[in-house]
Amino acid sequence: MYLIDCPNGVAGQLVKAGFRLNRLSQVFVTHDHSDHVLDAGSLAVLAWGSDLDHPIRFHGPPPLKQIVSRSVAASDFDTAARMREEGRPPLKPLVQVHETRNGGVVYEDARVKVTSAFVDHYTVRPAFAYRFDTSTRSVVISGDTTYSDRLVNPAKGADLLIHEAMYLPGVDQLAAGNDRLKDHLLRSHSHRAGRSDRGARRCEEARVIASRPGISGHNGRNVAARRSREFQGRSNRRPRSERGLTVLSIYSGWSDR
Ligand SMILES: [Zn+2]
Repeated sequence: MYLIDCPNGVAGQLVKAGFRLNRLSQVFVTHDHSDHVLDAGSLAVLAWGSDLDHPIRFHGPPPLKQIVSRSVAASDFDTAARMREEGRPPLKPLVQVHETRNGGVVYEDARVKVTSAFVDHYTVRPAFAYRFDTSTRSVVISGDTTYSDRLVNPAKGADLLIHEAMYLPGVDQLAAGNDRLKDHLLRSHSHRAGRSDRGARRCEEARVIASRPGISGHNGRNVAARRSREFQGRSNRRPRSERGLTVLSIYSGWSDR
């Protein structure tokens, strides 16, 4: 099982979506903001507690090694007790981190080749998009980014581009008068005025799904409905399956099940 990012609650959302945590093998982290990596350790611990018998490998930018190791270490007391009392194997050898500062091929097996590309997430550098190529189709996920020329080529020809898109009127509510927060949101993320629509157009053939539907303080359904108009039908409100490829949005309670 391949996973992109591991925010708060990701393990529970995976289970609700019908996935077994012990099938997890590769985690691709777009960048190290907490809402993309906060549950790295708990995900590993919970997978281990679900009879994980192979390593989980996290891929992503520095300081991912530090984040994952410290996060896993927070459960040292528990894992030691379970090794002692339940006969479980040591956890740490099952948690590996492939930290990289560079774009390019980050992972490949018989089923998929995964390539990273730099995107523009303001001062958070590096931040990556990932492209997944299989024998039959390809998917690109932008991660958090404002419009970035560097994403156009990797996304060209993909069957599906999942691009971050913030609902602009929601930004004001989220910022709640905090101009510094609003400035961060507008410089770091994609929104129509900030040209994510332009990015989608330039990626040509790719079918586009807008991610990041949840904005704090909003009713998800209302935001989704308004966002669909905002992006002129380019976004699918509840993406579930594109040409046989299952896409689950597990961000902010948007699981399909
Ligand atoms: Zn971010």
